[in-house]
Amino acid sequence: MSWEENVRTVVPYTAGEQPNKADMVKLNTNECPYPPAPGVERAAAGLDYRQLRLYPDPDTGVLTKVLAEYYHVKPEQVFVGVGSDDVLSMAFMTFFNGPLPVLFPDVTYSFYDVWAQLHGIPYKTCALDENWHICPRDYRQPNGGVVFPNPNAPTGLLEDLGTVEEIVAANRDVVVIVDEAYVDFGGVSALPLLKKYDNLLVVQTFSKSRAMAGMRIGFCIGSEKMIRYLQDVKFSFNSYTMNLPAQILGAEAVRDDAYFKETTARIVATRERVKGELKKLGFSFPDSSANFIFATHGHIPAERIFRALREADIYVRYWNKPRISNYLRITIGTEEQMERLLDFLKKYVDKNRKIC
Ligand SMILES: *Cc1c(COP(=O)(O)O)cnc(C)c1O
Repeated sequence: MSWEENVRTVVPYTAGEQPNKADMVKLNTNECPYPPAPGVERAAAGLDYRQLRLYPDPDTGVLTKVLAEYYHVKPEQVFVGVGSDDVLSMAFMTFFNGPLPVLFPDVTYSFYDVWAQLHGIPYKTCALDENWHICPRDYRQPNGGVVFPNPNAPTGLLEDLGTVEEIVAANRDVVVIVDEAYVDFGGVSALPLLKKYDNLLVVQTFSKSRAMAGMRIGFCIGSEKMIRYLQDVKFSFNSYTMNLPAQILGAEAVRDDAYFKETTARIVATRERVKGELKKLGFSFPDSSANFIFATHGHIPAERIFRALREADIYVRYWNKPRISNYLRITIGTEEQMERLLDFLKKYVDKNRKIC
């Protein structure tokens, strides 16, 4: 017998590449193109390095309190983690322990099946309809839990609150996780449903709308009971997941609501303008409520465009996977970044029209 027989083997999640070129346009991992709030810079400058000698607050008290106030819930309903990936993985481990399969869409965040495999959770995917919408009736079959992003990734498509409630209401005997990584760009949060349903867990992140992907902060809000179960698993795993700077700087990001609203509004305005420009160039896409557009071209294969863009140091995301292999996921950057993308695409589409 070889030691390899006892190895937990997993096929890891493939994150978007993180190139670092001077003049690149990076539109491939849905980061915010604007810096974090000014208060974050001030707090970062004021950090006393000597504090790093001590363990951080294992309850992330300051950050939890600020989030509870902001979202009008009790601190006991908030759980903070090292990015929402940490929160989601912890939630899978905590709540998806039954024998029945956990359900999620066939086209969705590609970390869900990886966590299911890692934690040994059976799962089943439900096909989105031909317009990329979730079919709520698919979530009426026996299951061990449900998870989906809203707006969905990588489509950017938002489901209305009625659809979300229908799924939560039809699954009172399991936990339903709504991953709201992109909700701040025009989505509708499921948070108000928490008053009616104790099986709902809403997960959000600081990585996209709060411009802090590098700091790794995510959180979820649910019933007090649910959060207690999550804490028990977390404290059995690693008490000090979140470092001190993340706790302090994260709280500052939430405190500056005006900056948050201004930058997200700017991204939404750019997105709407880019939608119009892409249409003129022959692209079509589901109507995004996120900080990216999931676009396909009328006659040029997505993979070719992806490679051509990459040659020009413009990075977008492409997956050679069923149903989505002719699509590009383009993050919304600054106006200048999008201008460079559109300039390139105008020339590229024009050139390819002449060849055809
Ligand atoms: C980006 C993303 C996350 C994770 O983000 P973190 O950086 O780990 O907070 C989770 N879910 C979806 C759908 C995402 O797109």
